[in-house]
Amino acid sequence: MKSSTPVIIAVDGYSSCGKSTFAKRIANKLNYVYIDTGAMYRAVALYALQHGLADTRQIQNETLVKALDDITIRFRFNPTTGTQETWLNGTNVEEAIRGLEVSAIVSKISQISEVRRKMVGLQRSIGEKDNVVMDGRDIGTVVFPQARLKIFMTADVAIRAQRRYKELKTKGIEASFDDICNNIRMRDHEDETRSESPLQKASDAHVLDNSHMSVEQQMEWFENTWNNIENSNDN
Ligand code: C5P
Repeated sequence: MKSSTPVIIAVDGYSSCGKSTFAKRIANKLNYVYIDTGAMYRAVALYALQHGLADTRQIQNETLVKALDDITIRFRFNPTTGTQETWLNGTNVEEAIRGLEVSAIVSKISQISEVRRKMVGLQRSIGEKDNVVMDGRDIGTVVFPQARLKIFMTADVAIRAQRRYKELKTKGIEASFDDICNNIRMRDHEDETRSESPLQKASDAHVLDNSHMSVEQQMEWFENTWNNIENSNDN
């Protein structure tokens, strides 16, 4: 039996595991909307940097919380690239939010309860309207505990750092491998140990360790998992 309420597929997991590549492929395959929730936290981090409310040493939490009503985040589909892009207060920030400066502070920004509340509200309102594949850290545990399918992704840290290094290089962004590796470890630690909505596997999530898997192999894994779920819903 298929329900008429929108279907949610939650893809959670560690930093730089390839969640967005995988989630985008699933969304394309099923014709669902893809939502990158990390981009939302990154947009808030960028806002804080642009307004002098954060640097690598400290975040001005109170001032940032007061400014939250002035922050508007939207996703817009770019027909040229065929992807959703992140807009912050009317400006396309898809490139700007991917740099190391934002990566260095984003997990601290995402620990602020009021920031999380605002982002979770936005994420739920998107999921009320459309079938979505949403990737993040707390989608299956907090945002949509009723998701039809929950996937929890993990991969070896060195492999993740290598992939991120290549990705930044392709985009022409200079970064050292060691800095990337340290940033990934730090974000894993901060995401797993924060008091609010820490990164954890939902008890009913399906674990995908893609350390030694191509994207095609991951899609094969997805198709098997999804078919099993759809078949068990039909019975
Ligand atoms: O997915 P991405 O690495 O772009 O996310 C950036 C940061 O945003 C993560 O390191 C994490 O601290 C935070 N985040 C979160 N909850 C989400 C998505 C991302 O706390 N649902």
